[in-house]
Amino acid sequence: MSPQCRFCHAPLDQSVIDLGHTPLANSYLPMNDPNAIAKERRFALHVMVCTQCWLVQTTETVPADAIFDHGYAYLSSFSTGWVAHAKRFADEMVARFSLPKSARIVEIASNDGYLLQHFKKMGFGTLGIEPAGHAAELARAKGIETRIAFFGEDQARALRTEGVLADLMVANNVLAHVPDIADFIRGFSTLLAPHGVASFEFPHLAELLKHAQFDTIYHEHYAYLSLGFVERLMTKAGLEVFDVIPLPTHGGSLRVLVGHRGAHAVQPGRAKTRATETEMQLERPESYAALAQRTAQIVADFHRFVKSAKQAKKTIAGYGAAAKGNTFLNTAQAGSHDLAFVVDRNPEKQNHLLPGSHIPVYAPAAIAQHKPDYLIILPWNLADEVMAQQAQIRDWGGQFVTFIPKLQIR
Ligand SMILES: [Zn+2]
Repeated sequence: MSPQCRFCHAPLDQSVIDLGHTPLANSYLPMNDPNAIAKERRFALHVMVCTQCWLVQTTETVPADAIFDHGYAYLSSFSTGWVAHAKRFADEMVARFSLPKSARIVEIASNDGYLLQHFKKMGFGTLGIEPAGHAAELARAKGIETRIAFFGEDQARALRTEGVLADLMVANNVLAHVPDIADFIRGFSTLLAPHGVASFEFPHLAELLKHAQFDTIYHEHYAYLSLGFVERLMTKAGLEVFDVIPLPTHGGSLRVLVGHRGAHAVQPGRAKTRATETEMQLERPESYAALAQRTAQIVADFHRFVKSAKQAKKTIAGYGAAAKGNTFLNTAQAGSHDLAFVVDRNPEKQNHLLPGSHIPVYAPAAIAQHKPDYLIILPWNLADEVMAQQAQIRDWGGQFVTFIPKLQIR
């Protein structure tokens, strides 16, 4: 039986890319624990496109306990670039919509309070909703009211019963992570004040296809979103996209501003992005054929690069133990014979093994200690930040390497 579309329930029959069976991208393993390696769980990672509503999606939903059970929490505050992006977002929204001090800001998947802290400092009422307990506790420690919950229509109704109505709702980089996307959006329709604004940021499907960003695919990332689909999604819940702003984050994202139908004047940004998508023919099955071929090419380039580095007796390490890197390494079937180690600033990932590839993760100090000849930047979207931070590798002739959209040694 073919799987069903998460949104319109039509049978899915159009494959986009099949990345095989891999562990969850954020399930880091303890070091020196053969038992943990033996028990490592793998799940199918297959992306298909629905030819009825054009939602590009993974076919499997991983049980929530498998996702939130791993011993570490993704903490947004570990990326300085990300915290700065959040600050700019807060300033822009306050200025553009002239939010009065009485406005209430509700963020869904508020993490450790990396965004709401900026609104709180400006004196607004804030409420965070975050399913990961550890991140929520960190936000509470900063004085940010946070509910530990998954968001959806039921949660929104419960909040409304308590008298909560949101003037600004924020769900930046969360839409793709929600298995039941229709229920999630009904929650916005329920909780948003009549003239309220909801902001959604998500990596743009057009960029994924254009730049072969196959490593942005992982199990917890259920949906790969186009404006065309997002408009269909909002319309069904009585909402309307009134502006679209392209952003450079995550290799090319969209910020979509949404209100109740007719509540805000539609801005030219929407027509512009619609035109880009029409030109790329995102609603034709042929437009998805090239991604698998380009992925195979990138994987072949990786193996060629590693082989020639080894022949020249050069050492290779990686920077950034993020989900992207894990999809990349597991698709290439890489291991510690390819990359000696990966470094990450998050202490909760250090002294663990990457899922699947079992490459060890150390603190960034390992770079100065081992002086690798090549440092592969796995989160290529942060390449500039990483190259500035790790400029020291030039002292021993080290070079940076990125593989997406194509091999670059720099
Ligand atoms: Zn569908």
